[in-house]
This record gives sequence, structure tokens and C-alpha cells, in this order.
Amino acid sequence: MLTIESFCFNAFQENTYVLFNEKKEAIIVDPGCYTPIEEKVLTDFISKNELKPTLLFNTHCHLDHVFGNKFISDKYGLTAILHEHEQIVLDRLPEAAAKYGISVEAYQGPIQYVQDQQIILFGKESFKVLLTPGHSPGSICFYHEKQDFILGGDLIFKDSVGRTDFPGGNAQDLINSIRNQILPLPDALSIYSGHGPVTQLGRERKWNPYIKHLLDN
Ligand SMILES: [Zn+2]
Ligand SMILES: [Zn+2]
Repeated sequence: MLTIESFCFNAFQENTYVLFNEKKEAIIVDPGCYTPIEEKVLTDFISKNELKPTLLFNTHCHLDHVFGNKFISDKYGLTAILHEHEQIVLDRLPEAAAKYGISVEAYQGPIQYVQDQQIILFGKESFKVLLTPGHSPGSICFYHEKQDFILGGDLIFKDSVGRTDFPGGNAQDLINSIRNQILPLPDALSIYSGHGPVTQLGRERKWNPYIKHLLDN
């Protein structure tokens, strides 16, 4: 059984998640901690709960999702798990941040690429990688079938979907990703998004105007 804790970090109000099991092993998802205070909030949670981070997931590499990659990778000795098509986005981090007047160091720590449908083991649990480009070229979701949830990044939000106007974004890819990878999943699926509250796929089928439009066409 996995427990999920969420944090909202940085000026973009990005959701960082920490998932942990009974053995207190933990996964850190999209560490968006930017300020020393945000870093401390995250590391205090980990130390107070005596967690041992063993995996670092990146749903995609927009700046708000990777601000804390270097800090977390260095601190816990973790390898960033992401899709190869996101490398270009990750490499662009200092340049993308400069556009917002923010200075950020490039992430040069270890990286492991994963592919669509790849299974990632975590203790007794497993995640399936779903390649879902559109918001960014190598966006992925991490699907935990047993507990019926995805870590969805910026693919789908409550009542909305991810923007496709950033470099490497593609509206048709986003539509195909939702149609082919997400809509076949059950209504009870919980979607832990990169921004905003957790939602359920059934709820989004009913109320999300973008998804309703997809289903009608
Ligand atoms: Zn994004
Ligand atoms: Zn985001």
C-alpha cells in the first residue's frame, strides 16, 4: 500500500509528490522545490517520517517540475527517471528560467530513460510508464494499477488539460495521448496532476470541457 503526500511549490504552484510504502521507502515525483524553505519543507517531511527515498520520477522537465532535481538527486543519491524526448527540455532549463528572470543550474546528475509500457518496480509495488506527449515532447504518466491512480504531470487537470504552446508541445499529440492512453482507464482512476487538486477520470469524463469535446468527436 502506498501513501501519497503532496506539496505545492514555487511561483508556478507546482505539485510535488512523495509516495512511500510500509518499509518507508519513498519516491519523489517532480521535485519543484526552489527556495531553501521549500527544500526544507520537503526534506523535513522525509526525515520526520524516517523515509528513505529510492526513486526520482520526472513526468516531464518543465522548469517548475525540475527546480529541485539537482538538490534531491545530490541529497539522496537518486537517478532521475524520465523519457528520452524530455532531455532537450531538461537541457533548456537555464535558458527557460532566464526568460522568467530566474537563475537555475542545469541538472547534470544521473538519468535513466524509460519507455512507453515499461514497468518500474518499487518494493512490492509497480508502476507502468504511459508515454503521453503533447504538453511536452516526452511527457509520461506513471500508472499504479493496483491502487488505481496515475501521476499525470501536466496532461490533465481538474476541468482542464495541459498547454501545448511551449516549445515541443503539440495539440494533436495531447489529444491522442488522452484518447489512447488515459480514456481506456477506469472511471475510478485518481489523477494526481502537476497543478491543482487530485481528480478522478470519471469526473473529468463528465465535467472537463476538453475531454467531453474529445469524447463527442
Ligand atoms: Zn509543464
Ligand atoms: Zn507544470
